[in-house]
Amino acid sequence: MTIFSKIINGEIPCNKVLENDHFLAFHDINPKAPIHILIIPKIEYKNFQETDPAIMGEMTTFIQTVAKLMGLDEGGYRLITNNGSDGGQEVFHLHFHLLGGAKLSWNHLSDSDSKNFI
Ligand code: AMP
Repeated sequence: MTIFSKIINGEIPCNKVLENDHFLAFHDINPKAPIHILIIPKIEYKNFQETDPAIMGEMTTFIQTVAKLMGLDEGGYRLITNNGSDGGQEVFHLHFHLLGGAKLSWNHLSDSDSKNFI
């Protein structure tokens, strides 16, 4: 069981943004932008590569709702999913990073620049 499954079942707390029967959005504990939300399905898929495409349609709507709730829908945001170890994935439960609240440079998440938000 991953740490995200423990968050879903309430064993570990999170700073929740939005939840429904199928998805949960919460603030990343180590934010890489002024707004950094993680969005996860409650069913445990290892990553994007192993996701059932049927769930992605519903997840798209949920992500759009979270972006709007955070006031990012008009100004813009970045949506990332790290897939597998070469993709930088550390938690093997599918999740999307929703990043915003600043004008993000293309390389603002590079390892050498990890202390800088923008
Ligand atoms: P990834 O590298 O794509 O697997 O991203 C995992 C993310 O989960 C990282 O950005 C972490 O900061 C975040 N994270 C790990 N544990 C927690 C937690 N308990 N609450 C919130 N975010 C977490």
